[in-house]
Amino acid sequence: MSDPHRIDQDLLQKLVYDALVWSSLHGLVVGDRNIQRSGVVPGVSMVHAPVALLPTSFPESHWKQACELAPIFNELVDRVSLDGKFLQDSLSRTKEVDDFTSRLLDIHSKMLQMNKKEDIRLGLHRSDYMLDEQTKLLLQIELNTISSSFAGLSCVVSELHRSLINTYKKQLGLDSNKVPINTAVTQFAEALARAWTEYNNPRAAVLFVVQHEERNMYDQHWFSLILNEKYPFLIIRLRPIYITTVRKTLAEISAQGKLQPDGTLVIDGEAIAVIYFRAGYAPTDYPTESEWRARLLMEQSSAVKCPSISYHLVGTKKIQQELAKPDVLERFLDNKDDVAKLRKCFAGLWSLEESNIFKDAIERPELYVMKPQREGGGNNIYGYDVREALLRLQREETNEDAAYILMQRIFPVVAPTILLRDGSCHKDSAVSELGIYGAYLRNKEHVLVNEHAGYLMRTKVSSSNEGGVAAGFAVLDSIYLT
Ligand code: ADP
Ligand code: MG
Ligand code: MG
Repeated sequence: MSDPHRIDQDLLQKLVYDALVWSSLHGLVVGDRNIQRSGVVPGVSMVHAPVALLPTSFPESHWKQACELAPIFNELVDRVSLDGKFLQDSLSRTKEVDDFTSRLLDIHSKMLQMNKKEDIRLGLHRSDYMLDEQTKLLLQIELNTISSSFAGLSCVVSELHRSLINTYKKQLGLDSNKVPINTAVTQFAEALARAWTEYNNPRAAVLFVVQHEERNMYDQHWFSLILNEKYPFLIIRLRPIYITTVRKTLAEISAQGKLQPDGTLVIDGEAIAVIYFRAGYAPTDYPTESEWRARLLMEQSSAVKCPSISYHLVGTKKIQQELAKPDVLERFLDNKDDVAKLRKCFAGLWSLEESNIFKDAIERPELYVMKPQREGGGNNIYGYDVREALLRLQREETNEDAAYILMQRIFPVVAPTILLRDGSCHKDSAVSELGIYGAYLRNKEHVLVNEHAGYLMRTKVSSSNEGGVAAGFAVLDSIYLT
């Protein structure tokens, strides 16, 4: 795709105008951060989601590679989740210094003690990659196993880009077929609906665990809308049975939730078949003991959890780093080709106990990223802060190093882009991160779903280290295959 910065001013204005109208009419929206109610009450104070005006070029070969990896990662997560000892041992040092991870591990231990088995296992993951400019390698940033966001809005962004390209085909000289159709939201909804079917209680609902305030609620509502409207998933005595969804915060679940003797989770009188977490991944989601009680209650129940506590733990940065050690993948996957494919996308990952790496990171901090066991963006340490943090750990001689991992810093291709935010566009140079969704469902030994399930491109100004979409640095994007 040629340089979007060279699009002439008249055309640019038309594109921006059309993009804003299209987004508003098609639900490509988020709550307006200037208005507090917008995160609580749907339908008030919406603003178009921050987006790239046009899709970002991405090599087709790397795109295919990333899609091919999804089912392998899905399988890997499942296998690792079954090895409770591996999870506990790998995170044992982290547990001593990281309260949040420690609480998750406590719930996990309780389940191990109870010998709790999850027969129906549902994973809705997103594996994120950057394309390393120098080596041209597709390298994994991380694998999200909880609250993988934007499956809803990413589909709408792809449609926006296809629509703009179709309308301005001649002027832009682009082909909308090069923007892959994005089916993330339907595939996720379908996997969730199938999990609900496997649970086999037509009166039970799907529970969305949400934060009290959520400006990204429309991304979630896209999901429940498709679930509610598209699927009469069962026909009983000639009557179609639709899936109902309920949204509750952890505090509400704590107040209203009960376990029946057979393990059924009942919230406010309603049985729950599947629990889908869009909260619960950050310490701030657990301000009091009530929220932790809610998490434990759900884990003890027979409902299908997306994710279970073990799936959640598999997605930690520490486990990512442990899996990258020599001979570890082989413990979980039998197929050698699969192992080789995964390993090819692993960047350098180290524990801070590796003294040569620790030293090198102090000398050349710009080549590393330091990561704690956190999700949701904005938690990593970059550049000279890495040096300072490491020197401090060295001085203090505590075990606090176990809270972090070190990762090779990836330097992706920088490309010109046009970002659209709050109704205005601006030109900048940007880097992109491609997320590939993966859906996995099994019931005991039967794998019912294992597929790649759409994509999310996020583009951020190249001067920003991190910057999530919500934080205001990155925008939602799609890809143009080259
Ligand atoms: P989180 O779970 O909080 O999203 P990530 O590991 O995805 O944590 O890091 C957040 C962001 O930091 C990424 O979206 C990416 O922009 C940047 N980042 C993370 N790891 C690297 C890396 N190794 N090299 C360059 N940038 C990185
Ligand atoms: Mg993450
Ligand atoms: Mg991330």
